[in-house]
Amino acid sequence: MNENINIAFPDGAVREYPKGSTALDIAKSISEGLARKVLAADVNGQVWDATRPINEDVSLKLLTWDDNNGKSTFWHSSAHLMAEAIENLFPGVKFWVGPPVDNGFYYDVDLGDRSISEEDLRKLEVKMAELAKQNNLYVRKEIPKDEAVRYFAEKGDEYKLDLLQNLQDGSISFYTQGSFTDLCRGPHIPSTGFIKAIKLTNIAGAYWKGDEKNKQLTRIYGVTFPSQKQLDEYVTMLEEAKKRDHRKLGKELGIFTMDDDVGPGLALWMPNGTVIIEELERLAKETEADAGYKRVVTPHIAKENLYLTSGHLPYYAESMYPPMELEGVKYYLKAMNCPHHHKIFAAEQHSYKDLPLRLAEYGTCYRYEQSGELFGLMRVRCLHMNDAHIYCTREQFAQEFRAVNDMYIKYFKIFGIEKYVMRLSLHSKEKLGIKYVNEPELWLETEAMVREVMKEANIPFVEVPDEAAFYGPKIDVQIWSTIGREFTLATNQVDFAQGRRFKLEFTNQNNEAETPLIIHRAPLGTHERFIGFLLEHYAGKFPTWLAPVQVKILPISDKFMDYAKDVLQKLKKADIRAEIDDRSEKIGKKIRDTELMKVPYMLVVGEKEVNENKASIRRQGKGDLGARSVDEFVNEIVAEVRERSEL
Ligand SMILES: [Zn+2]
Ligand SMILES: [Zn+2]
Repeated sequence: MNENINIAFPDGAVREYPKGSTALDIAKSISEGLARKVLAADVNGQVWDATRPINEDVSLKLLTWDDNNGKSTFWHSSAHLMAEAIENLFPGVKFWVGPPVDNGFYYDVDLGDRSISEEDLRKLEVKMAELAKQNNLYVRKEIPKDEAVRYFAEKGDEYKLDLLQNLQDGSISFYTQGSFTDLCRGPHIPSTGFIKAIKLTNIAGAYWKGDEKNKQLTRIYGVTFPSQKQLDEYVTMLEEAKKRDHRKLGKELGIFTMDDDVGPGLALWMPNGTVIIEELERLAKETEADAGYKRVVTPHIAKENLYLTSGHLPYYAESMYPPMELEGVKYYLKAMNCPHHHKIFAAEQHSYKDLPLRLAEYGTCYRYEQSGELFGLMRVRCLHMNDAHIYCTREQFAQEFRAVNDMYIKYFKIFGIEKYVMRLSLHSKEKLGIKYVNEPELWLETEAMVREVMKEANIPFVEVPDEAAFYGPKIDVQIWSTIGREFTLATNQVDFAQGRRFKLEFTNQNNEAETPLIIHRAPLGTHERFIGFLLEHYAGKFPTWLAPVQVKILPISDKFMDYAKDVLQKLKKADIRAEIDDRSEKIGKKIRDTELMKVPYMLVVGEKEVNENKASIRRQGKGDLGARSVDEFVNEIVAEVRERSEL
C-alpha cells in the first residue's frame, strides 16, 4: 500500500506526494527548470538537503540562490569542495570548521609546517573547478558516534575529534562528495555541479577556537556562484566598493575621524560630517513634525534599576559599558533610548484620547561591541539613533504601523534607494515562554496586523519564522546601495511586553486601565551607519542639500576677489553653504581640487563675468553649464535644496 503525504506550499496550496519524496522530486514535478535551481529546502522552518526523503505532512519552501538559506547552503557546500581540493594539494591536512559567511565561506585548516601562497589559491581554484565538473553528489550518512571517532582517529584529525566530543550519539552525520568526507550537520546542495564559478579571495591566520593561546590555523576564504556572470558582476562590485570605501572617503572629505586617545569605535564628527548630520536631523524633524511626533531629550546615563525593569540587565549586560558607581548607586551609559521614553510616557496620565503619543529623539546610545567587531562607521560604540516610540491602542496600531512604513518609503525616494526588502520576523509557537513572551494570542494578532499592513501597502517583504524580538514581531529593513551592496538599515518593531514591564497605562473608552502597544522605529538608523552607507551610495558626491560645501566660488585672479565676496554674500543670505577659493593658484588647479572635494557647484568669476554681473557655472559630474546671472543661480539652487532633489 503506497502512502501519501500532504505538502503545504508558501502560497497556501496543499498537494499530495508519495511518502519518501524529496524536495527535489517535488521540484521536478513542478518543472525541470525549477529542479535545476533548487539548492535546499525549508521543511517546517528547518533547512534540509533537497535530496532528503520527507516522510510526513510538512510545510515546504524550495530554496534557491535568491533565498539567504539557499545561498548559505551553496557556500557551505563550496567550503566542502574547497576542502576536497586542499586535501588533494596538501595531503595530510587537518580540518577545523568551514562555515558560510556574509559573502562566501571559509575553512580553517592546519597545514602542519607547510604554508600556502596566492599561487596555491589559483591552483586550488583550478582543482575545485575540476571537482565541480565531476558533479559529485553530496551524500548524507547518519552514523554511530564510535564509528565517527574511529574514522577521524585513523585519519589523525584531532580537530574533528574535538568537535565529536561535544556531540551526542545518534545525532552524528557524515557528508561525502567525491573523495572527501566531513563531519557535518548539513544541509548541502544536491551535487557539486551546481558550483559554476569559483574565486578564492583571501588567506588569514585564525587561532583555533578564537583563543590566542591556541595554535594558529590558516583560514582560506572563497566565494562561489551558480554562474560565471554572477562572479564577474561580484568582482566589479567589489572594485567599485573599494573606491567608495566609507573610511577612505570619510577621511578625504573630512567627514569623520577616529583617535586612539578617544577610544576605538568612538567616531569624531568633523565639520563636514556635522553638516550632513544636521541636514539629516532637519529632514527627520520636519518629517516627524508633519507626522505628529513630539520631540524629547533624555540623559545619556541612567540608574541600574531602569535597565532591570526593562530587562536589558542582566541579559544585555555584555553589550553595555560597565557601570560607574556613585554614592553607592550604579549608573549605566544607555544602550537604547526606549526605557527613558517609557518613563516620559509614565510621567503623565493618559486617556485613549491622547493616543497615539509619538516621542522622538535623535538619541545617543553606547554599546560595547567587541574590538574585533568594530568596523569604520558600520560597527561603532557610540551611535546617534533616529529613534522614536509610538504608544497607541490596538485599534490605532494598523494605521500607525502603516504610517511608519510610509515614512521609510518616503526616505528611500529622497535618497534614491531603489532596491529594498523588508523581512517580517515572526515568533515560533514552540518557544513561547522561552525565547518569546508567552502571549500566544497577542503574537498571532500583531503578526496578522503587520502582515496585513505590508500586503495592503504593496511593500516587498519576506516572512522569517523564529526571528522576532522577545517582545513582538519586527521588520528588518535591508537596502542596497547603487553598486548593489546590501546593508541592514533599521528595524521597525512591535512591542506588547515593555508596556507591561513599565506598568504603562492609559484609560480606555470603558474607563478601564489598559496597556498601550509600543512601536519602536528608526527609519534612518544611526548617523554612523547611515552616513557610512551614503558615502558608498553616492561615492561621496552628495546631492546639493546634503553637501557640506554646496558652492565654491573660484576667482580667476585676485583682481576679482571683491566680486567673489559679493557673490558669496548673496549665497550666504540665501542659506547656501559657499566658500571662496582664495589661493593664488591657476584656475585649472582650483577646478580640479574642488572636483576632488566633490562640491556640487563651482562658480568661476573673471573679467567677463564681472562686467556682465554673471558667473560661469560648473556642475559636478556635468561640467560647464555656461554663464548665468548670479541672482538666477541663487534662486535655482535654493529651490533644488528645498526639494532635496537628487543629482
Ligand atoms: Zn557541511
Ligand atoms: Zn526602542
